[in-house]
Amino acid sequence: MKKRILLLAGGQSGEHEVSLMSARSVLNALPRDRFDVTPVVISKQGRWLPPTETTKALETGKSAPGGDLVLHRAASAEGYDAVFPLLHGPMGEDGTIQGLMTLAGIPFVGSGVLGSAVSMDKVMTKQVLAAVGIPQVAWQLALRRDWQQNPQGVKDEAVKLGFPFFVKPANLGSSVGISKVHNEGEMDRAFELAFSLDRRVIVEAMTSHKPREVEVGILGNDAPIASPVGELSFDADFYDYETKYTEGVAQMHIPARIPGEVAENIRELALKAFKALDCAGLARVDFFYVAETGEVLLNEVNTMPGFTTTSMYPKLFEAAGLSYGELVARLVELALEKR
Ligand code: ATP
Ligand code: MG
Ligand code: MG
Ligand code: MG
Repeated sequence: MKKRILLLAGGQSGEHEVSLMSARSVLNALPRDRFDVTPVVISKQGRWLPPTETTKALETGKSAPGGDLVLHRAASAEGYDAVFPLLHGPMGEDGTIQGLMTLAGIPFVGSGVLGSAVSMDKVMTKQVLAAVGIPQVAWQLALRRDWQQNPQGVKDEAVKLGFPFFVKPANLGSSVGISKVHNEGEMDRAFELAFSLDRRVIVEAMTSHKPREVEVGILGNDAPIASPVGELSFDADFYDYETKYTEGVAQMHIPARIPGEVAENIRELALKAFKALDCAGLARVDFFYVAETGEVLLNEVNTMPGFTTTSMYPKLFEAAGLSYGELVARLVELALEKR
């Protein structure tokens, strides 16, 4: 029997457009003989769009306001075998939708409430991973209230990490709102931007040299497997939004051009992180490899990574022998097994 899948896309975060791109790929690639897929685009205002509006949003990459309230439509999601919440960022990748699906009793692809919420928040992730001994850069937490009441205090703390450092909204992705701060003059703008997007901001020391950016895919629930390690190279100061999403700017290398024992270490650390964070289904774990010193530092865990046919996560498993269609089918199976 065909599995009925509800594919959620768009969403309220700064990664709305990225999600629409991923959803378009999944829709086109899902084997029709095995899956009956209904897409629903969630507008930036958080409303679930009806079929015609959903189709229009997927075709144009932009969605109109309107639609139903989330809770109203969640009840009608009961007719589906599984939900694929292909949503990135807050209100999608952070446990909120996962909580709704859990309450409604509908299986869904990916991590549950705990794994999603902790992995979405870069500070929480760092705290949990530090507790299990995973190497990371030095960092600080700053709250919007600290910034509003005592900006100089926040800046005085940050400079202790040394220039350059990174200022990031704690709960976002696709490099939205991230600045690399090279000097005192760049601080105000970086913090204003990050605090305009999140109450919680993480300030991170930069790696000792420009890092090599390596990523691993994890697939499974309580007995997860790791993909080969992939690498991204680009000619930019850091892997910002433009570099990520302008075609031809970044190059993907699978396998990563790193020593075999380093790749093995990275895969083990990724599995350890996945388990420590209580992730399920899938995650892409991002690392920095500092070739000059041999350091491997875990950067972050993405519980709903970019999912176009040319995105890193599906490409990593393709290299391991799993086609895009087979990968999506496996994710749905894992969603059903999780219950
Ligand atoms: P994603 O789209 O993968 O979810 P994100 O928005 O969560 O990304 P990060 O991965 O935290 O953002 O950072 C984006 C990029 O900024 C990194 O890929 C890297 O190029 C650079 N970067 C971030 N933090 C550091 C750091 N501490 N040292 C060096 N480079 C960094
Ligand atoms: Mg991320
Ligand atoms: Mg992300
Ligand atoms: Mg990243």
